[in-house]
Amino acid sequence: MLTYDVVVVGAGNAGMSAACKLAMSGQKTLLIEQHNLPGGCATSFRRGRFEFETSLHELCDYGPASDPGDVRLLLKDYGINVKFLEVPDTFRVISTARSGREIDAAMPVGQKAFIDKMEEYVPGSRASMEDFFTLGDECNAATIYINQSNGSPDSEYMKKHFPNFLRTAAHTTNKVLDALKMPRDAQDILNTYWSYLGVDTERLTFMHYAAMVHKYVTRSAYIPELTSHGLSLAFIDRFQQLGGEVWFNTKVEKVLFENGAVSGVSTTQGDVAAKHVILNCNPHTAYATMLPKEVIPEREIRLANARTHSARAFVLYLGLNKTAEQLGLTDYSIFMPPTMDTAKAYQALSSLETNDYIISLCYNIVNPKASPEGTCMLSFTTFYSDEVWKDISPENYVNTKNQIASRMIDKFERKTGVKLRDYIEEAEVATPWTFARYINTPQGTMYGYETNEWDSMMARLMSLNTDYPIPGLKFAGAHGPRGDGYSSTYICGELIARLTLKDMAEEAK
Ligand SMILES: Cc1cc2nc3c(=O)[nH]c(=O)nc-3n(C[C@H](O)[C@H](O)[C@H](O)COP(=O)(O)OP(=O)(O)OC[C@H]3O[C@@H](n4cnc5c(N)ncnc54)[C@H](O)[C@@H]3O)c2cc1C
Repeated sequence: MLTYDVVVVGAGNAGMSAACKLAMSGQKTLLIEQHNLPGGCATSFRRGRFEFETSLHELCDYGPASDPGDVRLLLKDYGINVKFLEVPDTFRVISTARSGREIDAAMPVGQKAFIDKMEEYVPGSRASMEDFFTLGDECNAATIYINQSNGSPDSEYMKKHFPNFLRTAAHTTNKVLDALKMPRDAQDILNTYWSYLGVDTERLTFMHYAAMVHKYVTRSAYIPELTSHGLSLAFIDRFQQLGGEVWFNTKVEKVLFENGAVSGVSTTQGDVAAKHVILNCNPHTAYATMLPKEVIPEREIRLANARTHSARAFVLYLGLNKTAEQLGLTDYSIFMPPTMDTAKAYQALSSLETNDYIISLCYNIVNPKASPEGTCMLSFTTFYSDEVWKDISPENYVNTKNQIASRMIDKFERKTGVKLRDYIEEAEVATPWTFARYINTPQGTMYGYETNEWDSMMARLMSLNTDYPIPGLKFAGAHGPRGDGYSSTYICGELIARLTLKDMAEEAK
């Protein structure tokens, strides 16, 4: 039987990152992917003359060369060199604030510019916004420290260096923003990004939200010039250069065990031996279909059952036969939630009838060459907070997705005044079932489990030492300690690879 030091199952972001780290550390590593392409969510597809980015709107924590973020540093460490483009603004938001005020706010990058703009929209917000960014600095530094400590941070060091982080970490975003005395309209604008983490700001912890917003505003968002597919290919190339082996079109069906410890995997191409396996698949899927029941500790089943599947995406991709300029499109991303009350907006995501949330994205604003000359590309994304799509029969599936897509175009045209319908050359829709098929997650979730109060990023990072009790087996992905998103999953992959290397070193003693 073929034998490896480690098998990584799934070439999503976390799987590719873990595989690169292990290969770099000299481990004989096999990466197995069921699809014929790497990346999981991080990929692209073609329709006619358009190549559509499947998922990535904005990569957090890449940053400029002068102030590199964790992802830029990670890619450099791996030896991956891909051209990135900076997103010039943070977001535009069009919606109704909790105060009843109609808001149409376009926010810039850079802390000072962001605070100045907020003061224009919401006079009197300046001091609280400055406090928010100061606290954000501390939250980021604390998260980096906890990540590096492999889940065993020194409490005295934490108290000395991150006192305000400790004071606020366990509280929800809204609670801390209220404590900072931030005017409600400013909070509503600041909270625009909540859907990127899938949990409303009544439940999402402050440290998680603040860390993300802080990075987007301070270091800008970036996208790879050749879509996330280009970035995923670069990961695979580098992994292979480092001596790693990849099997595409291969599904791992079972993880194999001997005396309660991992001994390999059973795949559609045959069995492979390895004492360490990292699953880039959702634990629900693994426990239900890939592991023998007797090796799964009761605690792990209870933990998985207590968790809530996070957002499932619905995306409309449009290729238009006019340029962004000709159509009058000027914004890269526009968030159009039905309300800026994030708890109510979250509730509305739970049914087809009430879901009226859209994020529009025009790639050509950042990358004029994203589509052929004389054209542009747009996507509209919404999320579902529940298993809404299970009730759609196969007969009604196409009709339902087309109706929702049409409703999205109507809303966009109404809110922005930009007309699209006459210029659509290609249209494609991905529903939660599309994602379930391509990434093999329960109900198509692409964010793993909700990082709500009790299951927050902080709680997960602090449980790293107890969370992987099955000898030889670890999980990495959006469901993991860092939560969803490109930066979180790349960093999660590196972290889980490091924990695996630590186990291997201890075994070798
Ligand atoms: C529409 C959309 C927009 C998004 N926008 C952003 C954004 O702007 N910014 C951001 O940071 N994040 C964004 N995200 C989230 C981000 O894409 C995901 O959180 C992240 O890519 C998930 O990575 P992962 O490591 O969990 O792997 P996944 O992408 O879930 O991939 C898992 C991989 O494992 C493979 N696999 C599963 N089971 C098996 C098996 N048994 N055998 C072999 N292979 C298997 C799958 O085929 C897949 O390739 C978006 C996601 C979507 C869908």
